[in-house]
Amino acid sequence: MRKTILILSALFICHLSMAQSSDLEKVKATVEKEEIKSHIFYLASDELRGREVGTPGIEKAADYIAAEFKRYGVKPVPGADNGYFQQVLLKQASLPNKIKVTISEKDFSGQQVAIFNAENIEKVTQAVYLNYGMSDDYEGADVKGKIILVKAGAPDQTDQGSLFKLSLQKRGFAQAAGAIALIEVHDYNAQYWGSVKGYLSHDKMTLRDKNEPVGGPVHLWVNSNHNLLDELEKGAEVSTGLVISGIDNNRLTSRNVVGIVEGTDPKLKNEYIIYSAHYDHVGVGKPNAELDSIFNGARDNAVGTVTVLSAAENIAKYPTKRSALFILFTAEEKGLLGSKWYVENPLVPLKQAVYCFNSDNASYNDTTKATIVGLERTTASQNIKEACSAIGLTAIDDPAPEQNLFDRSDNVHFATKGIPAPTFSLGFTAFDKELFKYYHQVTDNPETLNYDYLLKFFRAYVLSCRKIANDEETPVWVEGDKYYEAGQELYGDR
Ligand SMILES: [Zn+2]
Repeated sequence: MRKTILILSALFICHLSMAQSSDLEKVKATVEKEEIKSHIFYLASDELRGREVGTPGIEKAADYIAAEFKRYGVKPVPGADNGYFQQVLLKQASLPNKIKVTISEKDFSGQQVAIFNAENIEKVTQAVYLNYGMSDDYEGADVKGKIILVKAGAPDQTDQGSLFKLSLQKRGFAQAAGAIALIEVHDYNAQYWGSVKGYLSHDKMTLRDKNEPVGGPVHLWVNSNHNLLDELEKGAEVSTGLVISGIDNNRLTSRNVVGIVEGTDPKLKNEYIIYSAHYDHVGVGKPNAELDSIFNGARDNAVGTVTVLSAAENIAKYPTKRSALFILFTAEEKGLLGSKWYVENPLVPLKQAVYCFNSDNASYNDTTKATIVGLERTTASQNIKEACSAIGLTAIDDPAPEQNLFDRSDNVHFATKGIPAPTFSLGFTAFDKELFKYYHQVTDNPETLNYDYLLKFFRAYVLSCRKIANDEETPVWVEGDKYYEAGQELYGDR
């Protein structure tokens, strides 16, 4: 009896170590120093000019990643453009240097006006009041070339979410009727005004709603404290003036790059592991003392991009039990926008995405380690630690929780949806001076990296990927984690 157990366990251990060494051999077979180096030297080259959203450099990077996917045999994703691209709709509007709205001789400016859609305009005219500005309200009205005044919301819909949704619809109706401007009048007592104003006043890049009409009338919200609504409801035409100047509107489209490798296990292949990183960076800025002005972003995040490329090449050649979804995000540096777009428009149902293994990087100060932000927050920690140690690195968790790094990269949008999502990073034991030498600096160049260390780093990532994707146990949030409940909600009992 005892002997049988001994033999069985000896066989078992033997089997385990064979499986392990073969995964390790598979990783070593595809993750090689010269290839890593050539990826990073291209992605972080001056030719790509810092890969900023809206510039040709980032488009070259996207094309390069997609071409590599194709070369590896990574499959196109159903529903993506040309199989490998997901369009991400963005907009950036500078704030006007002047805005003044005059309705029935009352002036509105500054904190009383919120801008939804604007172009430079100077116009004084009789405006038409159209109740709530819903489609019925347009019956018999001629508003072509005119300014329309409406009440915000709808009689039974006054919560903030409805106000935004209705607002987009109303602009669509105004545009279809040929109006030049739509002004929604809000009640002065509205509690939400403070947050609305804050939300709309930033001069920054944001996602663009797929249903948002392109072009269209000037669209403003005005917060009235003059009993204006009562006056408007009397129904007369109202003298209205509109002055907006100094606006610079920019609508743009960028691309997430995506690819799939189907899993080999008949059951587990319905579960997807997402391997992700952002590939954009911050572009060109002010020159330093050496007259370098290109922020090449070798660490941030050519390195992350290459973790995903390395996993893609390896898994395409040696598929894992679970399916793999590779995503390189655009516009992380603009406020985590590419990943936000993805979770709102997923190409594989979010419920089927059981894990997101992200990589984002500032720099490193310890070449014996890999730092995994959120290592101990999911049940995949053991697999990751074993993989790192098999390669000769030590996996450590976030050394600077006060920086809240977990919630500052693309992984957070997946976590919020309930998907376990740590971030695999170059080894750092503190978020200190050594990191700031390179973090968002023109010095973040490919020739300043240690490629012997990087070889280990990429191998450790890919071996972790294989272990997680082949494990019979599906990784989950550790009980009690901030995102545990979200996970329960997304996956239910599975
Ligand atoms: Zn960055």
